[in-house]
Amino acid sequence: MKREKVIYADNAATTKLNSKAYEAMKTYLIEEYGNPSQPYSFARTSKLALKQAREIIAQCINAEPNEIYFTSGGTESDNWAIKGSAFAFSEKKTIITSAIEHHAILRSCEFVERLGYPVVYVPVNEVGEVSPESLDKIATNSTGLVSVMLANNEIGTIQNINTLADNAHAYGAIFHTDAVQAVGHIPVDVKALGVDLLSASAHKFGGPKGVGFLYIKDGTNLDSYLNGGSQESFKRAGTENVASILGMAMALKDSVDNLPCLQSLYAEEEYFISRLKQAGLIEYEDYIWNGNHEKGNHLPGLISISLKNKDGEALMHRLDLKGIIISTGAACDSINTQVSHVIKAIGAPEDFAIGTIRISLGMDICRSEVGVIADALIEALRK
Ligand code: PLP
Repeated sequence: MKREKVIYADNAATTKLNSKAYEAMKTYLIEEYGNPSQPYSFARTSKLALKQAREIIAQCINAEPNEIYFTSGGTESDNWAIKGSAFAFSEKKTIITSAIEHHAILRSCEFVERLGYPVVYVPVNEVGEVSPESLDKIATNSTGLVSVMLANNEIGTIQNINTLADNAHAYGAIFHTDAVQAVGHIPVDVKALGVDLLSASAHKFGGPKGVGFLYIKDGTNLDSYLNGGSQESFKRAGTENVASILGMAMALKDSVDNLPCLQSLYAEEEYFISRLKQAGLIEYEDYIWNGNHEKGNHLPGLISISLKNKDGEALMHRLDLKGIIISTGAACDSINTQVSHVIKAIGAPEDFAIGTIRISLGMDICRSEVGVIADALIEALRK
Protein backbone atom coordinates (compact mmCIF):
# COMPACT_ATOMS: atom_id res chain seq x y z
CA MET A 1 0.00 0.00 0.00
CA LYS A 2 1.44 3.37 -1.01
CA ARG A 3 1.51 5.84 1.85
CA GLU A 4 0.15 9.34 1.27
CA LYS A 5 2.70 12.12 1.54
CA VAL A 6 3.27 13.20 5.11
CA ILE A 7 4.79 16.33 6.56
CA TYR A 8 7.52 14.86 8.71
CA ALA A 9 8.52 16.96 11.71
CA ASP A 10 9.94 14.33 14.04
CA ASN A 11 13.58 14.31 12.96
CA ALA A 12 14.77 14.05 16.56
CA ALA A 13 13.15 10.59 16.63
CA THR A 14 14.73 9.49 13.37
CA THR A 15 15.63 10.85 9.95
CA LYS A 16 15.10 9.77 6.36
CA LEU A 17 18.00 7.82 4.86
CA ASN A 18 20.40 10.13 3.00
CA SER A 19 20.49 9.22 -0.71
CA LYS A 20 24.32 9.20 -0.82
CA ALA A 21 24.31 6.79 2.11
CA TYR A 22 21.80 4.57 0.36
CA GLU A 23 23.82 4.48 -2.88
CA ALA A 24 27.02 3.64 -0.98
CA MET A 25 25.34 0.87 0.98
CA LYS A 26 23.79 -1.09 -1.91
CA THR A 27 27.04 -2.60 -3.19
CA TYR A 28 27.93 -3.92 0.26
CA LEU A 29 24.58 -5.63 0.71
CA ILE A 30 24.49 -7.49 -2.59
CA GLU A 31 27.91 -7.71 -4.23
CA GLU A 32 30.63 -7.04 -1.67
CA TYR A 33 29.24 -9.09 1.19
CA GLY A 34 32.49 -10.67 2.32
CA ASN A 35 33.16 -10.90 6.05
CA PRO A 36 35.82 -8.23 6.70
CA SER A 37 37.58 -10.46 9.23
CA GLN A 38 38.41 -13.12 6.63
CA PRO A 39 41.93 -13.15 5.17
CA TYR A 40 40.97 -13.95 1.53
CA SER A 41 40.75 -11.42 -1.30
CA PHE A 42 36.92 -11.43 -1.44
CA ALA A 43 36.89 -9.78 2.01
CA ARG A 44 39.28 -7.06 1.02
CA THR A 45 36.67 -4.61 -0.28
CA SER A 46 34.56 -4.87 2.90
CA LYS A 47 37.67 -4.39 5.01
CA LEU A 48 38.56 -1.34 2.96
CA ALA A 49 35.04 0.06 3.38
CA LEU A 50 35.41 -0.16 7.18
CA LYS A 51 38.75 1.61 7.00
CA GLN A 52 37.33 4.33 4.79
CA ALA A 53 34.27 4.79 7.06
CA ARG A 54 36.46 5.04 10.15
CA GLU A 55 38.62 7.70 8.49
CA ILE A 56 35.65 9.75 7.29
CA ILE A 57 33.93 9.67 10.69
CA ALA A 58 37.15 10.53 12.52
CA GLN A 59 37.68 13.51 10.25
CA CYS A 60 34.09 14.74 10.79
CA ILE A 61 34.60 14.98 14.58
CA ASN A 62 38.34 15.80 14.62
CA ALA A 63 39.35 12.42 16.06
CA GLU A 64 41.87 9.80 14.94
CA PRO A 65 40.54 6.76 13.03
CA ASN A 66 41.72 4.37 15.80
CA GLU A 67 39.50 6.26 18.26
CA ILE A 68 36.26 5.36 16.43
CA TYR A 69 34.51 2.12 17.52
CA PHE A 70 31.45 0.96 15.61
CA THR A 71 28.39 -0.06 17.63
CA SER A 72 24.74 -0.88 17.02
CA GLY A 73 23.65 2.69 17.79
CA GLY A 74 23.29 5.31 20.49
CA THR A 75 21.88 2.95 23.10
CA GLU A 76 24.82 0.57 22.85
CA SER A 77 27.36 3.40 22.82
CA ASP A 78 25.81 4.86 25.98
CA ASN A 79 25.66 1.48 27.73
CA TRP A 80 29.26 0.82 26.82
CA ALA A 81 30.43 4.24 28.06
CA ILE A 82 28.78 3.83 31.47
CA LYS A 83 29.33 0.12 32.12
CA GLY A 84 32.72 -0.05 30.40
CA SER A 85 34.00 2.86 32.50
CA ALA A 86 32.62 1.47 35.76
CA PHE A 87 34.10 -1.98 35.16
CA ALA A 88 37.48 -0.45 34.38
CA PHE A 89 37.65 1.52 37.68
CA SER A 90 40.16 0.17 40.17
CA GLU A 91 37.50 0.63 42.90
CA LYS A 92 33.75 1.41 43.00
CA LYS A 93 34.03 5.06 42.08
CA THR A 94 31.09 7.46 41.77
CA ILE A 95 29.37 8.25 38.48
CA ILE A 96 27.82 11.68 37.99
CA THR A 97 25.19 12.25 35.35
CA SER A 98 22.46 14.80 34.71
CA ALA A 99 18.76 14.56 35.47
CA ILE A 100 17.81 15.03 31.79
CA GLU A 101 19.84 12.25 30.13
CA HIS A 102 18.32 9.77 27.70
CA HIS A 103 17.14 6.51 29.28
CA ALA A 104 20.08 4.71 27.64
CA ILE A 105 22.26 6.60 30.15
CA LEU A 106 19.86 6.71 33.09
CA ARG A 107 19.08 2.98 33.00
CA SER A 108 22.75 2.08 32.50
CA CYS A 109 23.53 4.16 35.59
CA GLU A 110 20.78 2.37 37.55
CA PHE A 111 22.32 -0.93 36.46
CA VAL A 112 25.81 -0.12 37.74
CA GLU A 113 24.30 1.40 40.88
CA ARG A 114 22.80 -2.01 41.67
CA LEU A 115 26.34 -3.40 41.43
CA GLY A 116 27.52 -0.95 44.07
CA TYR A 117 28.74 2.05 42.06
CA PRO A 118 27.31 5.24 43.62
CA VAL A 119 25.45 7.45 41.11
CA VAL A 120 24.78 11.14 41.70
CA TYR A 121 22.46 13.26 39.53
CA VAL A 122 23.42 16.85 38.84
CA PRO A 123 20.35 19.10 38.50
CA VAL A 124 19.61 21.41 35.56
CA ASN A 125 18.22 24.95 35.52
CA GLU A 126 14.86 25.94 34.02
CA VAL A 127 16.20 25.77 30.46
CA GLY A 128 17.91 22.43 30.97
CA GLU A 129 21.50 23.56 31.46
CA VAL A 130 23.98 21.92 33.84
CA SER A 131 26.03 24.70 35.40
CA PRO A 132 29.76 24.08 35.91
CA GLU A 133 29.26 25.31 39.51
CA SER A 134 26.63 22.66 40.29
CA LEU A 135 28.92 19.96 38.90
CA ASP A 136 31.78 21.36 40.95
CA LYS A 137 29.65 21.12 44.10
CA ILE A 138 29.12 17.37 43.81
CA ALA A 139 32.32 16.15 42.14
CA THR A 140 35.01 14.75 44.43
CA ASN A 141 38.26 12.85 44.07
CA SER A 142 36.25 9.62 44.16
CA THR A 143 34.29 10.61 41.03
CA GLY A 144 35.28 8.18 38.29
CA LEU A 145 33.04 9.30 35.42
CA VAL A 146 30.91 12.31 34.51
CA SER A 147 28.37 11.84 31.72
CA VAL A 148 26.42 14.86 30.44
CA MET A 149 24.68 14.93 27.07
CA LEU A 150 25.77 17.46 24.44
CA ALA A 151 22.24 18.29 23.27
CA ASN A 152 18.97 17.19 24.80
CA ASN A 153 16.60 15.11 22.68
CA GLU A 154 13.39 16.57 24.11
CA ILE A 155 14.10 20.28 24.47
CA GLY A 156 17.22 20.70 22.34
CA THR A 157 19.33 22.56 24.92
CA ILE A 158 23.07 22.44 24.17
CA GLN A 159 25.42 22.14 27.16
CA ASN A 160 28.69 23.90 27.83
CA ILE A 161 30.52 20.59 27.53
CA ASN A 162 34.03 21.99 27.34
CA THR A 163 33.83 23.59 30.80
CA LEU A 164 32.04 20.59 32.33
CA ALA A 165 34.74 18.26 30.95
CA ASP A 166 37.46 20.49 32.39
CA ASN A 167 35.76 20.35 35.79
CA ALA A 168 35.51 16.56 35.65
CA HIS A 169 39.16 16.23 34.66
CA ALA A 170 40.19 18.44 37.60
CA TYR A 171 38.91 15.63 39.86
CA GLY A 172 40.65 12.95 37.80
CA ALA A 173 37.35 11.69 36.34
CA ILE A 174 36.79 10.74 32.72
CA PHE A 175 34.13 12.60 30.76
CA HIS A 176 31.51 11.11 28.45
CA THR A 177 28.98 12.98 26.36
CA ASP A 178 25.92 11.52 24.68
CA ALA A 179 26.09 13.44 21.41
CA VAL A 180 23.41 11.39 19.65
CA GLN A 181 21.26 14.44 18.88
CA ALA A 182 24.18 16.74 18.19
CA VAL A 183 26.40 14.89 15.71
CA GLY A 184 25.48 15.97 12.19
CA HIS A 185 23.36 18.86 13.52
CA ILE A 186 25.93 21.17 15.11
CA PRO A 187 29.73 21.24 14.77
CA VAL A 188 31.24 18.51 16.96
CA ASP A 189 34.98 18.57 17.60
CA VAL A 190 36.09 16.10 20.26
CA LYS A 191 39.31 17.99 20.93
CA ALA A 192 37.56 21.34 21.38
CA LEU A 193 34.94 19.68 23.59
CA GLY A 194 37.68 18.00 25.63
CA VAL A 195 35.74 14.74 26.02
CA ASP A 196 37.14 11.24 26.55
CA LEU A 197 34.08 9.37 25.28
CA LEU A 198 31.33 10.42 22.87
CA SER A 199 28.26 8.49 21.66
CA ALA A 200 26.62 8.91 18.26
CA SER A 201 23.87 7.23 16.28
CA ALA A 202 23.58 7.14 12.48
CA HIS A 203 19.80 7.30 12.13
CA LYS A 204 19.73 10.76 13.73
CA PHE A 205 21.75 12.27 10.88
CA GLY A 206 20.47 10.54 7.75
CA GLY A 207 22.27 7.22 8.25
CA PRO A 208 20.63 3.81 8.59
CA LYS A 209 19.07 2.59 11.84
CA GLY A 210 20.87 0.18 14.15
CA VAL A 211 24.39 1.53 13.73
CA GLY A 212 26.42 4.13 15.58
CA PHE A 213 29.81 4.69 17.10
CA LEU A 214 31.59 5.43 20.31
CA TYR A 215 34.57 7.77 20.23
CA ILE A 216 37.15 6.58 22.77
CA LYS A 217 40.02 8.98 23.23
CA ASP A 218 43.33 7.20 22.90
CA GLY A 219 44.51 6.05 26.33
CA THR A 220 41.05 6.05 27.98
CA ASN A 221 40.57 3.07 30.25
CA LEU A 222 37.36 1.36 29.11
CA ASP A 223 36.40 -2.30 29.45
CA SER A 224 35.23 -4.08 26.32
CA TYR A 225 31.47 -4.37 26.15
CA LEU A 226 30.66 -7.24 23.79
CA ASN A 227 33.04 -10.14 24.14
CA GLY A 228 33.83 -12.57 21.35
CA GLY A 229 35.95 -12.08 18.25
CA SER A 230 38.78 -9.65 17.70
CA GLN A 231 36.76 -6.97 15.87
CA GLU A 232 37.16 -3.31 16.84
CA SER A 233 40.62 -3.94 18.34
CA PHE A 234 39.18 -6.62 20.67
CA LYS A 235 36.95 -4.00 22.34
CA ARG A 236 33.62 -4.68 20.62
CA ALA A 237 33.16 -8.15 19.21
CA GLY A 238 30.75 -9.09 16.42
CA THR A 239 30.87 -9.13 12.62
CA GLU A 240 30.66 -5.52 11.50
CA ASN A 241 27.54 -4.20 9.76
CA VAL A 242 29.65 -3.09 6.80
CA ALA A 243 26.93 -1.57 4.59
CA SER A 244 25.39 0.40 7.45
CA ILE A 245 28.76 1.56 8.75
CA LEU A 246 29.64 2.92 5.31
CA GLY A 247 26.16 4.47 5.02
CA MET A 248 26.69 6.14 8.40
CA ALA A 249 30.00 7.62 7.25
CA MET A 250 28.51 8.95 4.00
CA ALA A 251 25.52 10.45 5.83
CA LEU A 252 27.75 12.07 8.42
CA LYS A 253 30.06 13.57 5.80
CA ASP A 254 27.08 14.99 3.92
CA SER A 255 25.54 16.38 7.12
CA VAL A 256 28.78 17.98 8.22
CA ASP A 257 29.32 19.50 4.74
CA ASN A 258 25.82 21.00 4.97
CA LEU A 259 25.91 22.19 8.58
CA PRO A 260 25.72 25.91 7.66
CA CYS A 261 22.37 25.29 5.89
CA LEU A 262 20.84 24.02 9.14
CA GLN A 263 21.08 27.54 10.56
CA SER A 264 18.06 28.45 8.42
CA LEU A 265 15.93 26.22 10.67
CA TYR A 266 16.16 28.85 13.43
CA ALA A 267 14.15 31.18 11.18
CA GLU A 268 11.56 28.43 10.62
CA GLU A 269 11.18 28.06 14.39
CA GLU A 270 10.56 31.79 14.76
CA TYR A 271 8.04 31.65 11.93
CA PHE A 272 6.22 28.72 13.54
CA ILE A 273 5.96 30.43 16.92
CA SER A 274 4.89 33.73 15.32
CA ARG A 275 2.05 31.92 13.50
CA LEU A 276 0.78 30.54 16.79
CA LYS A 277 0.92 33.97 18.37
CA GLN A 278 -0.78 35.66 15.41
CA ALA A 279 -3.67 33.23 15.69
CA GLY A 280 -4.34 34.83 19.05
CA LEU A 281 -4.85 31.42 20.57
CA ILE A 282 -1.64 31.31 22.41
CA GLU A 283 -0.86 34.08 24.80
CA TYR A 284 2.47 34.17 26.57
CA GLU A 285 0.91 32.90 29.77
CA ASP A 286 -0.64 29.91 27.99
CA TYR A 287 2.51 28.29 26.70
CA ILE A 288 6.15 27.73 27.52
CA TRP A 289 8.74 27.42 24.78
CA ASN A 290 10.98 24.91 26.52
CA GLY A 291 14.76 24.94 26.65
CA ASN A 292 17.24 27.61 25.79
CA HIS A 293 15.84 28.90 22.51
CA GLU A 294 18.58 31.34 21.72
CA LYS A 295 20.26 30.60 18.39
CA GLY A 296 23.32 28.41 18.92
CA ASN A 297 22.22 27.30 22.38
CA HIS A 298 19.74 24.74 21.16
CA LEU A 299 19.50 22.32 18.27
CA PRO A 300 18.39 24.03 15.06
CA GLY A 301 14.81 23.09 14.20
CA LEU A 302 13.84 21.54 17.53
CA ILE A 303 10.84 23.26 19.13
CA SER A 304 9.43 21.97 22.40
CA ILE A 305 6.35 23.72 23.74
CA SER A 306 4.19 23.02 26.76
CA LEU A 307 0.60 24.20 26.45
CA LYS A 308 -1.51 24.98 29.49
CA ASN A 309 -4.33 22.52 30.22
CA LYS A 310 -3.81 20.64 26.92
CA ASP A 311 -3.03 17.01 26.22
CA GLY A 312 0.13 16.65 24.13
CA GLU A 313 -0.72 13.13 23.07
CA ALA A 314 -4.19 14.12 21.83
CA LEU A 315 -2.63 16.97 19.82
CA MET A 316 -0.08 14.61 18.32
CA HIS A 317 -2.90 12.23 17.21
CA ARG A 318 -4.99 15.05 15.74
CA LEU A 319 -2.03 16.15 13.61
CA ASP A 320 -1.30 12.55 12.67
CA LEU A 321 -4.82 12.30 11.19
CA LYS A 322 -3.84 15.18 8.90
CA GLY A 323 -0.60 13.51 7.83
CA ILE A 324 1.59 15.67 10.07
CA ILE A 325 4.12 13.83 12.16
CA ILE A 326 5.22 15.41 15.43
CA SER A 327 6.03 13.97 18.85
CA THR A 328 4.94 14.43 22.43
CA GLY A 329 8.45 13.93 23.79
CA ALA A 330 11.07 11.25 23.33
CA ALA A 331 10.01 8.68 20.74
CA CYS A 332 11.60 5.88 22.75
CA ASP A 333 9.12 6.73 25.48
CA SER A 334 5.97 6.80 23.38
CA ILE A 335 4.26 4.00 25.34
CA ASN A 336 4.71 5.96 28.50
CA THR A 337 2.13 8.72 28.85
CA GLN A 338 3.60 10.10 32.06
CA VAL A 339 5.20 13.51 32.07
CA SER A 340 8.74 13.16 30.77
CA HIS A 341 11.61 13.28 33.26
CA VAL A 342 13.15 16.11 31.22
CA ILE A 343 10.05 18.32 31.42
CA LYS A 344 9.85 17.54 35.14
CA ALA A 345 13.53 18.35 35.68
CA ILE A 346 13.21 21.81 34.11
CA GLY A 347 10.34 22.47 36.52
CA ALA A 348 7.43 22.92 34.09
CA PRO A 349 4.22 23.41 36.10
CA GLU A 350 1.96 20.33 36.11
CA ASP A 351 -0.86 22.01 34.14
CA PHE A 352 1.62 22.67 31.32
CA ALA A 353 3.75 19.53 31.46
CA ILE A 354 1.21 17.06 30.08
CA GLY A 355 0.57 19.41 27.14
CA THR A 356 4.11 19.12 25.80
CA ILE A 357 4.78 18.57 22.11
CA ARG A 358 8.05 18.40 20.20
CA ILE A 359 8.40 19.51 16.58
CA SER A 360 11.77 18.72 15.04
CA LEU A 361 12.23 20.15 11.58
CA GLY A 362 14.62 18.72 9.01
CA MET A 363 16.35 20.34 6.05
CA ASP A 364 13.76 19.15 3.55
CA ILE A 365 10.91 21.08 5.19
CA CYS A 366 9.78 24.25 3.42
CA ARG A 367 8.22 27.43 4.82
CA SER A 368 4.73 26.56 3.55
CA GLU A 369 4.87 23.18 5.31
CA VAL A 370 5.88 24.87 8.56
CA GLY A 371 2.77 27.04 8.08
CA VAL A 372 0.64 23.92 7.53
CA ILE A 373 1.91 22.42 10.81
CA ALA A 374 1.16 25.66 12.68
CA ASP A 375 -2.35 25.90 11.18
CA ALA A 376 -3.11 22.27 12.01
CA LEU A 377 -1.98 22.82 15.59
CA ILE A 378 -4.09 25.99 15.87
CA GLU A 379 -7.13 24.08 14.60
CA ALA A 380 -6.49 21.23 17.03
CA LEU A 381 -6.17 23.70 19.90
CA ARG A 382 -9.45 25.37 18.95
CA LYS A 383 -11.15 22.00 19.22
N1 PLP B 1 20.71 9.24 23.29
C1 PLP B 1 19.89 10.22 22.85
C2 PLP B 1 20.11 11.62 23.31
C3 PLP B 1 18.85 9.92 21.97
O1 PLP B 1 18.04 10.88 21.54
C4 PLP B 1 18.67 8.57 21.55
C5 PLP B 1 17.54 8.20 20.68
O2 PLP B 1 16.53 8.86 20.64
C6 PLP B 1 19.57 7.59 22.03
C7 PLP B 1 20.57 7.97 22.88
C8 PLP B 1 19.46 6.18 21.59
O3 PLP B 1 19.94 6.04 20.26
P1 PLP B 1 19.55 4.79 19.35
O4 PLP B 1 18.15 5.03 18.88
O5 PLP B 1 20.53 4.83 18.23
O6 PLP B 1 19.68 3.58 20.19
